[in-house]
This record gives sequence, structure tokens and C-alpha cells, in this order.
Amino acid sequence: MASVNSNYLKLPGSYLFSTIGKRVREYGDAHPDADIIRLGIGDVTRPLVPSVIRALHDAVEEMGDAASFKGYAPDLGYPFLREVIAERDYRKRGCAVSPDEIFVSDGAKSDCANIQEIFGPDNVIAVCDPVYPVYTDSNVMAGRTGDYDPASQRFCGVIYMPCTEENGFVPDLPSEPADLIYLCFPNNPTGAVITKEQLQRFVDHARRTGAVILYDAAYEAYISEPDIPHSIYECEGADTCAIEFRSFSKTAGFTGLRLGFTVVPKALVVDGVALHDLWARRHGTKYNGAPYIVQRAGEAVYSDTGRKEIREQIAGYMENARIIREGLEKAGYTAYGGVNAPYIWMKTPDGMSSWDFFDLLLDKIRVVGTPGSGFGPHGEHFFRLTAFGSRENTVRAVERFGSLAYNG
Ligand code: PLP
Repeated sequence: MASVNSNYLKLPGSYLFSTIGKRVREYGDAHPDADIIRLGIGDVTRPLVPSVIRALHDAVEEMGDAASFKGYAPDLGYPFLREVIAERDYRKRGCAVSPDEIFVSDGAKSDCANIQEIFGPDNVIAVCDPVYPVYTDSNVMAGRTGDYDPASQRFCGVIYMPCTEENGFVPDLPSEPADLIYLCFPNNPTGAVITKEQLQRFVDHARRTGAVILYDAAYEAYISEPDIPHSIYECEGADTCAIEFRSFSKTAGFTGLRLGFTVVPKALVVDGVALHDLWARRHGTKYNGAPYIVQRAGEAVYSDTGRKEIREQIAGYMENARIIREGLEKAGYTAYGGVNAPYIWMKTPDGMSSWDFFDLLLDKIRVVGTPGSGFGPHGEHFFRLTAFGSRENTVRAVERFGSLAYNG
């Protein structure tokens, strides 16, 4: 008789964004004329840039001609894409990442969720609190945690690294021995970044203890200030202890196209086994490659024109971020992030719970954001807004926040 993977039953409730979607739908049904502005879910709104569209068209033409038709892509990605990534994202920044250490995929979410498969079932994970939920949930599904404790809103057997106003949303080293340390900078949801010195401390710690760092750099393209590391491989020795995830989703608006990649350095050896070989084996067995046309579109992102176009697109989103941040501050709120990341992490007023604030905003000003507690208990009393809305909606949302503050 079949049985289910009972680890799935440890996961509480529904996925955060499903809960938000349901509440907004119910509100919309009850108030059909309500003009709701959605700054909640982290999805982009601007269209693909012209260079990407051109590359897609060209690749589609190739697929329609027997002479240039492509079937299955190479498991690990086409060399034309892996080479340009190695050159532009790594070698140009002084990181010695070679094309054959890059694994092209359909995005960072699946890679972040799947990477745990190559580690032992008894490995202990450390995650930030608040955190992008995929890191924890994928380990819960794999049976690497204990039960969920509703009182503490945490899973037993997981080490949580609090990210607070006091530490600038950059956690201290894990308080107990951890085998896998998940880090994400620029951070979702707090919008915080880590300095090279702070990141080097994590790298040194991992090398000392034999831990592996799983570094999610999905928002790297949003870094605007100098001296903020774009890759963990800017730190000395990171190639022996870190795996890095990247995504084209927020960099170039590929949320609907799907493309990302993971770097597993060949020097990263655990228990005498190169993790590169294990990830290659996993990829080869369970994944048949990102579509040719999408990989050509990804290549176009690195062309001179493509880079210029996506820089302008990102600058547009970051102008939204500035408008939100400064607007909130003017209205008397405390807001973080929004300088090197498309997320603004605002404090709820008067210690209000983040779900009460969600309901208040929906009811009074019809703006949707994401309650911070949905990302972990240290997200309580915070609220995440995204810079991915249209300019018009961003400006209107900020005006509404002003009226809310004024009216109490
Ligand atoms: N990592 C982080 C931190 C994210 O916030 C997201 C998307 O919101 C992802 C990964 C997913 O990226 P992708 O669209 O490439 O799967």
C-alpha cells in the first residue's frame, strides 16, 4: 500500500502568497469597485527588453529550420551561455569561476529547493529569520527538520539566525554548529546587503567548521553602492565552501520565461566527494535542460545593448524603490532596504502586528503588501513592499500612505 511522505504534513497552512491572494480576492469580492494596488508579490511588471525579444525571435526561426533546429539542450546548459556568464558575472569581477562550474537551469527557486538533495539527511541547516521560505520548506520535505512548533513559529532542529534592526538585518554566525548555511544578499524580504568583511566571516567560519554556504544572489543586479559583494566568490576561499544561485527573473524580467544558474566550484569537496560531480549527476538524471530559445534570450542579456537596456529597466524599478522609501519616511514611517534591493522593509506603526497592518492597509487605502511575519517570527512588526509595480501605481500607493498617516 502506498504511503505519503509524512514530512510534507509538517508544513503549516498554505504558502504565504496563496494566503495573501485569498484575502485580497475575498476583499475584492466584497468590494467590487475597490481600486486595489498590489505591491505584495515580488513579480516584475515591465516587458522583456528589445534585445531579448530579438534573440527570442531569432531562436524561434532557428527552431523552424531543419538545418538549425535544436532538440534536447545539453544538461548543464549551452556553452555560449555558460561562457558569457563566466566572463561577465565572474571573471570581470575577479572571481575564478569557469564555464564548466556553471549549471544552467530554469530558475533559482528550483535550484535553491533541490540543492539539499546532494547533502546527507542528517545535515543541520541554518537559515535567516526572516527568510525566503523555500530554503526551509525544501528541507522540511526532505525530512531534515523536526516538527513545526506553532508557539515559536519555527521548525525544531533548524538553526535560525535572527536578522533585526540592531544587526542591520545581517545575521551573526550560527549560534550552534550548522552543516548547511543559507544566505541571501541582497536580501528578500529585508532589502539588506552584506559587506565583504561580513561575508568573509561566514566564509571563514564555514571553512573552519566544514559547513557549506548556499548563497542566493538572485538580486545581485540591484546592487547600486560600491564595495558591496556581487558574488560570494569575491571572498577568499569561498570556492572551497560555497555554492551560489543566480536568476534572470529579477535581473532581466524572466519570471515568465524561466532561466537561472547555479555555480558549484570544482574545489568544493565534502566527505572526499566533489559536490560538482553530485550536482552534475543530479542535473543529468532529473533535468533535461533549459529551452534553447530561452538560453539564447539569456545570452542577449549580456550583449552590450542588452546590458544597457536591463540597466535602464532596473534603474526604473529602483526609482520606484526610492519613491516608496522616501514617501514612507516623509509620512513618518521607518523604512529599510530599497537602495541595493527592490524590497522596502517598513516597520508597522505602534507595534501593530504585520497581519493587522495588512488588513488595515487593504481596508483603508487598498494597498497590498506582504506581512513580515510570513517570513518568520523576526519579521513580525515589519511589512514588505516591492518596487516592481508600475510607476503610476507606486506613486499612487505612496500618496495613499501619506493620507493614512495624516488621518491616523
Ligand atoms: N531566490 C529569492 C531570494 C527570491 O526572492 C526568488 C523569487 O522571488 C527566487 C530565488 C526565485 O527565482 P526564480 O524566479 O529564478 O526561480
